[in-house]
Amino acid sequence: MKMKTALGLTLAITFMQSAMAQEAIHGHEGEQKLGMAYIAEEHNSAAQSPINILSGKATEGHHEVVLHYQPSGSHIGNLGHTVEAFYEKGSTLEFDDQQYELQQMHFHTPSEHLIDGITYPMEMHMVHTLVGNPDKYLVIGVLFREGDADSTLATIVNNVPDVAGETNDVPDISLSASDLLNFSEHYFHYEGSLTTPPYTETVTWLVMKDVHEASPEQIAKINALEGNNARHIQDISARQVDSN
Ligand SMILES: [Zn+2]
Repeated sequence: MKMKTALGLTLAITFMQSAMAQEAIHGHEGEQKLGMAYIAEEHNSAAQSPINILSGKATEGHHEVVLHYQPSGSHIGNLGHTVEAFYEKGSTLEFDDQQYELQQMHFHTPSEHLIDGITYPMEMHMVHTLVGNPDKYLVIGVLFREGDADSTLATIVNNVPDVAGETNDVPDISLSASDLLNFSEHYFHYEGSLTTPPYTETVTWLVMKDVHEASPEQIAKINALEGNNARHIQDISARQVDSN
């Protein structure tokens, strides 16, 4: 697995550089400690993310998702280690009668989750926190393959600052989480962790089965800004993935 090693090295270097450049920036998936913590890739626990989802081993799921998303102004950040759109308050999602609020969406190049061993060029994470308990997360993972340009993604790609650590606030340009997600009832669900420090194991993961398309140029632009920022896949251990 030569690629894994190369990727891990790039990751460590990228994280070191971004840690120096980004003192006091947080909000990727959780409140982040910057600095050496980024290099600590190992974590001795049994509920870490991402994972390789084996569709043939998934059990039948019976979950219910109800979306109450509304458009937001565009607030697009170049965090160095990721490109992130901060979402305005008021967009919620119900998962099995628990209410979560959409906070932000960001990107990994290549994808963090694998489906049946396949890595995709990009994965978007839509990060929600439980209403009343911001330490409990629900993250929707959307995989992208190369194809046609995504017009909603263009709002993010066209407004992201070139300089790491800067955010471009364009309140009059609307960003639609509904259009970005294009929700379908078909997804994998499992319980896991944040994929960045502190790797907290309080994340309900929904990984969409529908793979979206983005143009090679859109993916390349995001990758040029954030580098290869996918964490290695983690052991599924005794966990169960269900298929909805
Ligand atoms: Zn992420």
